Amino acid sequence: MALPESFERLASLFRKMPGVGAKSARRMAFYVLQQPPSFADELARVLAALKERVHNCSICGNITDDDPCSICSDPLRDRKVLCVVETVEDLFSIEHAGVFSGVYQVLGGRESPLDGETLDGKVLEALCTRIENDGIEEVIIATNPRIEGDLTYHALVDYLGAGAASLSRIAYGLPVGGSIEFADRTTLQAAMESRVRVKGAQ
Ligand SMILES: [Zn+2]
Repeated sequence: MALPESFERLASLFRKMPGVGAKSARRMAFYVLQQPPSFADELARVLAALKERVHNCSICGNITDDDPCSICSDPLRDRKVLCVVETVEDLFSIEHAGVFSGVYQVLGGRESPLDGETLDGKVLEALCTRIENDGIEEVIIATNPRIEGDLTYHALVDYLGAGAASLSRIAYGLPVGGSIEFADRTTLQAAMESRVRVKGAQ
């Protein structure tokens, strides 16, 4: 049986979202259909505002309505410790776990030769300048425990090794092949606390 075209279009959009299969996508589309018209109106407005208003923080790369983001503008954060993450999702997971009180830098990329991905030179340059200008004392590299995360970590160490800040990498607790995004609080806390110093005073 053919379903109405606009229904299929909505379901196929939901289907593109991570973790949503064909069946769930159809259930979501049915749900929207069953709600009063105000629900679809609000959904459309929220989606439009999301792309219009949300942008990347000019300091750390986090997503935000305001610039700088709430983390960069929080006077209680420790500005001498910088945690470098691959994605905003990783930043969210570490923040949500409440295991880190410093500031962040989102790379927005990684070293992955097989996918033809490499770290953006401008991002690395900005990171270096930020570490120097802000007098950052410790850089915690929180790349994922996968091959791409390892390559990204080595690229960062190569690039930042000559600077004054000490470098650490989160370690214990994260399974090889796992991801920061899906790690629980205890695992992230263990990984953060047992970070391995790779450069600088112990
Ligand atoms: Zn920020």
